Amino acid sequence: MDKLAKASNTIDIIKKYNFTFQKRYGQNFLVDTHVMDKIMDAAQITHDDHVIEIGPGIGSMTQYLCERAGRVTAVEIDKDLIPVLNETLKDYDNVRIINEDILKLDLNKLILEENNGKPAKVVANLPYYITTPIIMGLLEGHVPVSRITVMVQKEVADRMQAGPGSKDYGALSLAVNYYSSPHIAANVPPNCFIPRPNVGSAVINLDVYDKPKVKVGDEEHMFKLIRAAFNQRRKTLTNSVSGALTLDYSKHDITEALEALSLSGNVRGEALTLEQFALLSDRLLSDRNNLD
Ligand code: SAM
Repeated sequence: MDKLAKASNTIDIIKKYNFTFQKRYGQNFLVDTHVMDKIMDAAQITHDDHVIEIGPGIGSMTQYLCERAGRVTAVEIDKDLIPVLNETLKDYDNVRIINEDILKLDLNKLILEENNGKPAKVVANLPYYITTPIIMGLLEGHVPVSRITVMVQKEVADRMQAGPGSKDYGALSLAVNYYSSPHIAANVPPNCFIPRPNVGSAVINLDVYDKPKVKVGDEEHMFKLIRAAFNQRRKTLTNSVSGALTLDYSKHDITEALEALSLSGNVRGEALTLEQFALLSDRLLSDRNNLD
């Protein structure tokens, strides 16, 4: 079948079905076969893989996935696209189309049923309005996935890949780096989509670890600490964490714990590595337990 990911073929399908783009669903269809090839290279799909595609649109990327994977599950929220997908994917017998909101679907259950619980791969040109809830839902929800290869807003890809000291470094970088190893595989300009988005895009690959990168006593406590530290990123960590309503530490508790880790009481959150946040979280909890 000729590739749908060419502008002329996408336009033909849109006209044939009288399809109206829904802005609220973040519908920007990818119309560049070179970019599709780059996404496939980054995802490294084999016939043994079960791939979950989030938001197949008219099925342009799904065609590529069906050619390479053992099985593809494509989850699309827009019911108007289901008849289109039924036609564009009719030649493939390894695809299941689900008309559902990805944020409401139980992916652990789906992978258990479709892949015996073995890790799947996620590949998608994501709807940008829900990038963070999708990625964090997969990672924090411990959904069995070995790799996530997704097109996201360039700025978000930079934040995911950022390290300490960079302006892009923050709670998202730390969460993504805790669960996975991120790598930007390609930058993609707006003219590769119909309609063109107002922002640049990038393909990012997250290689998900079997176990998180660092050991920490209480994961939830560490992430509360991280969120508090970046909530007011211009403040020192001591000031922003002591002011956080989600935690109950005084300035004194925090400076003492920082000093015990050979860090200054005036340090900002953006200077700490993931390992240091884990140590600080453990230290604050052990100091508190010693007081009890
Ligand atoms: N994969 C297609 C492509 O590359 O051309 C379309 C990508 S488009 C950026 C995002 C797709 O996600 C749209 O088809 C949109 O309808 C769908 N979508 C938006 N929100 C969704 C949700 N909550 N659950 C599932 N699909 C969603």
